[in-house]
Amino acid sequence: MPNLAEPPTPTESRLPALYLKPHEERRLLAGHLWVFSNEINVAVSPLAGYSPGELVQLRSSRDRFLGYAYINPRTLISARLLSRDPAWPPGLPLLRRRIETALALRERLYREPFYRLVFGESDLLPGLVVDRYGEVLVVQLGTAGMEALKELILEALVQVIAPRAVQWRNDSPIRELEGLPLYVETAFGEVPDNVVIPEGGVRFRVPLASGQKTGWYFDQAANRALFSHHARGARVLDVFSYAGSFGLQAARAGAREVTCVDASAAALEAATATATANGLALETRKGDAFQALEALHAEGRRFDAIVLDPPAFIKRRKDHPKGLAAYRRLNQLALQLIDHDGLLMSCSCSWHLAPGELTDAVQRASRHLGRFVQLIAVGAQAPDHPVHPAVDETRYLRAFLFRVTDAC
Ligand code: SAH
Repeated sequence: MPNLAEPPTPTESRLPALYLKPHEERRLLAGHLWVFSNEINVAVSPLAGYSPGELVQLRSSRDRFLGYAYINPRTLISARLLSRDPAWPPGLPLLRRRIETALALRERLYREPFYRLVFGESDLLPGLVVDRYGEVLVVQLGTAGMEALKELILEALVQVIAPRAVQWRNDSPIRELEGLPLYVETAFGEVPDNVVIPEGGVRFRVPLASGQKTGWYFDQAANRALFSHHARGARVLDVFSYAGSFGLQAARAGAREVTCVDASAAALEAATATATANGLALETRKGDAFQALEALHAEGRRFDAIVLDPPAFIKRRKDHPKGLAAYRRLNQLALQLIDHDGLLMSCSCSWHLAPGELTDAVQRASRHLGRFVQLIAVGAQAPDHPVHPAVDETRYLRAFLFRVTDAC
């Protein structure tokens, strides 16, 4: 069990209060962590009185203490809850305790230290993401509140994990909404250019600094295992492959041939380097996935198992109609490349795309092409990305494995 620090004495009274309107505490009491700007009693606690990232104590309209939060008066989500316990205000002891609790889950789940160590709201650290590559940590601070706690977060990570190096990967565009600058910087130690990630019997070589996101998509690990399991003997097409994680694990599991498609030359170079180092055969195609799928069709190529793992086509609600159309088109292009009795794993990391909308997109496309699809497995985000049941936004990854046959 983690060694928890003694709780500090309450500082509740020292932090400025943020008052909610009547009844607006209900979502928080049900477990959610967010306060929207229209829920705040601005007559009593005007938003202009707070600076981005400042710590506050949240209070109901009846002056009940609800918890400690950080605030950003510029954003639609005005405050995010950090602690509900008056004896645990935000500070080093709380951060250490949260990180120790997060670590205990990952240590229970994983034999090797390669995982998402902290997944924001789901680990009660809203706005903070930490990925662990052995002794190297890559940290994303997504909000002004987390940015303000930066030095304490680093100290807590160093105390709990004792890493060799820590990198700030603060270049996500969501930071702009928070009024934060974008930067990538070494926080501590010497961050290596590359890391080696063992997964599915393959040792993946991934560039850290130039890699995407924090370098690896840990959330898809369970789905990669599911896909590989079904790929023995198959001609595999890995679309939106990044560093070839689906395709090369399938190759290791006995796929007959593997083709990776991605728009990023660096991602495909990493995939090729991994293939060579692991003695696996790989064909890569650089380019837009939609065009590549059309070209493969025109060439008469056929596959037995295709995985589609696109970037989020629906980042904001208003993108929904266009994004849904893109998911439909993509799945249709993939289905027409699949031979009789093949497999399609269709994924989406758009929270705004309901699971039923993705299965429906595949079903419609299959009807259009005169194929028949059966859903044989439903995948989910890996358990190092736990879902907070009160915060549905944390349940964002959809993965469906379909069997595809010719309709008759
Ligand atoms: N399947 C990967 C993660 C994919 S992330 C894994 O499990 O590790 C999405 C990938 O899509 C990125 O590598 C990005 O370079 C690529 N990408 C984004 N838009 C694209 C497009 N239009 N065509 C092809 N690839 C694209």
